[in-house]
Amino acid sequence: MKQLNLSLPNWIDSFLERQPKIIPEPENQMSFVLALTERNIREKSGGPFGAAVFEIDSGRLVSVGVNVVVRQNCSAAHAEMMALMLAQKKLAHFDLGAAHFPAHRLVTSGKMCAMCMGNVCWSGVKEVFSSAEPEDVESIAGFDEGPTPPDYNNQLESRGIRIVTELLRSEGRAVLQLYVDLCGTVYNPTRKV
Ligand SMILES: [Zn+2]
Repeated sequence: MKQLNLSLPNWIDSFLERQPKIIPEPENQMSFVLALTERNIREKSGGPFGAAVFEIDSGRLVSVGVNVVVRQNCSAAHAEMMALMLAQKKLAHFDLGAAHFPAHRLVTSGKMCAMCMGNVCWSGVKEVFSSAEPEDVESIAGFDEGPTPPDYNNQLESRGIRIVTELLRSEGRAVLQLYVDLCGTVYNPTRKV
């Protein structure tokens, strides 16, 4: 094998057809991402996580992502990773912060794990807005969020990436609870035997 293919669920196209292409306000961007996440849960097409990349100044939607780890047989297929990779493919550039691009924001339903945080540092986005906190993900949905640095926010800020957490947190927690209520699959990087 020498090629890698990852894709979002088929319902994404019809979902996006009914959504605005420009969403200027961060709260509305998060509502959009949480609706995307809820759809992923109800369609049973992946874990309870969604994300999107927007142009900061215009609010133009660049890409979306949902968790497709199980269906794509790929532990890296977190929502944030999918959104960032699809934005880079769409713009045909590995650096979303390149000088000829407008600044980009990643909006995500849950605060990022170590992998996604790492990719954010490499991706070129200038802002990250998140809803649910890691303890919400762990206490409500039972996912292990894995190791993240204790000075998480400072690590991003020191690289010129603004981070805003707990945006619509109660709504983000409700989406996680919906996943539990609908008996979604919980997978973890470590398993206790
Ligand atoms: Zn992640």
